[in-house]
Amino acid sequence: MVKAVVGANWGDEGKGKITDMLAQNADVVVRFQGGANAGHTIKNKYGKFALHTLPSGVFNENTVNIIGNGVALNIPILMNEVNEIVKKGVPKPIIMISERAQIIMPYHIKFDEYEEERLAGRSFGSTKSGIAPFYSDKFAKIGFQISDLWETEEALKEKLAGVIVQKNVLLEHLYHKPLIDIDETFRTLMQYKEMVAPYVCDVASYLQKAIADGKTVLLEGQLGTLKDCDHGIYPMVTSSNTIAAYGAVGCGIAPYEIKTIISVCKAYSSAVGAGEFVSEIHDEAVADELRKRGGDGGEYGATTGRPRRMGWFDCVASKYGCRLQGTTDVAFTVLDVLGYLDEIPVCVGYDIDGEVTTEFPVTRLLKKAKPVYETLPGWKCDIAGIKEYEQLPENCRKYIEFIEKKIGYPITMISNGPARDDIIYRKSPLK
Ligand code: GDP
Repeated sequence: MVKAVVGANWGDEGKGKITDMLAQNADVVVRFQGGANAGHTIKNKYGKFALHTLPSGVFNENTVNIIGNGVALNIPILMNEVNEIVKKGVPKPIIMISERAQIIMPYHIKFDEYEEERLAGRSFGSTKSGIAPFYSDKFAKIGFQISDLWETEEALKEKLAGVIVQKNVLLEHLYHKPLIDIDETFRTLMQYKEMVAPYVCDVASYLQKAIADGKTVLLEGQLGTLKDCDHGIYPMVTSSNTIAAYGAVGCGIAPYEIKTIISVCKAYSSAVGAGEFVSEIHDEAVADELRKRGGDGGEYGATTGRPRRMGWFDCVASKYGCRLQGTTDVAFTVLDVLGYLDEIPVCVGYDIDGEVTTEFPVTRLLKKAKPVYETLPGWKCDIAGIKEYEQLPENCRKYIEFIEKKIGYPITMISNGPARDDIIYRKSPLK
């Protein structure tokens, strides 16, 4: 049984919490795309953690945590994360790394920095984790798979020389930065080899067997639909595919094995970095209030600490976000945060050149879209601790049901706090 937990918005929807919750009953948790450029925040009995690379199953002793082939693997960051959680008292997790996963090379991080510097004001707001240069190299077929670390010294150096010659031309003539040394890079790779050696295996075969044995496998997505390289707000997207369909590619299982797709949707919107964001709150005082109250300790990047851009719930973007994911269930998160508001605007359409649409458009048109709002009454109380749907205040249920109707996907889980058990299960009329 394979389930995917993915984001229906711009990321930071609370996927970490939902995965951590579901991971308690999962045999295997898999990261299938992205790198250390975004983080999940998880709060459990061991404390509060920001995981960037590790799958969220690492807090359960018996869960196998897999880094799939689709991941951009920063090996030192992965190792630091393992050490950090163990230092905080978490039992040493079981980890497997796909031999086909590719490595973030030290020069990927440098190129990310140099390119942002070169673009200056026109930059993509990259986290400078090397993700875009990494995926560029992967698809240009000059990346390094983990298994390459077991090549002979001669073969690996020859491959490095072929790649580095091209990198050094750019470094010298475009960026005017120090050149890459082949021997030094080789030595770094040998250190990486030592670090990953205990964990490397044929993940796709392992998963095939696990599925045949009836194990529960959770695929854990990073970011959300609107940051998907194909279906998001291109070019202000991430360099990988954030949709559940890629979950099959990113760890080597059959696509039809993914039976449940849980799209995590936040009860309001937030986004990081540049890019179109139609329901953004432009009144800074209003945005700041929501930002400070948002999430667990405010809406600030888990990796970068950057303040997130804040917005009202966007039914147009979320309907599209859920559709592209192939949603079977929506987990509606961080609803408790909205309890302070007298009334809550919800974006129900986009006005593009005087015509209102509920279909999420391509970037060219998105740039012109103005939000059309409907305002719902707030519930003005704290809903933390409530366990039954019927016990939620009426206006709170109306908010959920209004959004469910607009997006057209069943909201079956409502998260009303950061902890594992802050969850309300609901029978949806759409299911
Ligand atoms: P992810 O990358 O999608 O996991 O998102 P983040 O790490 O940014 O998680 C969102 C933040 O909200 C984290 O600090 C979570 O602990 C917190 N969080 C998740 N669900 C809830 C919720 O229902 N209520 C509150 N108040 N915080 C939540």
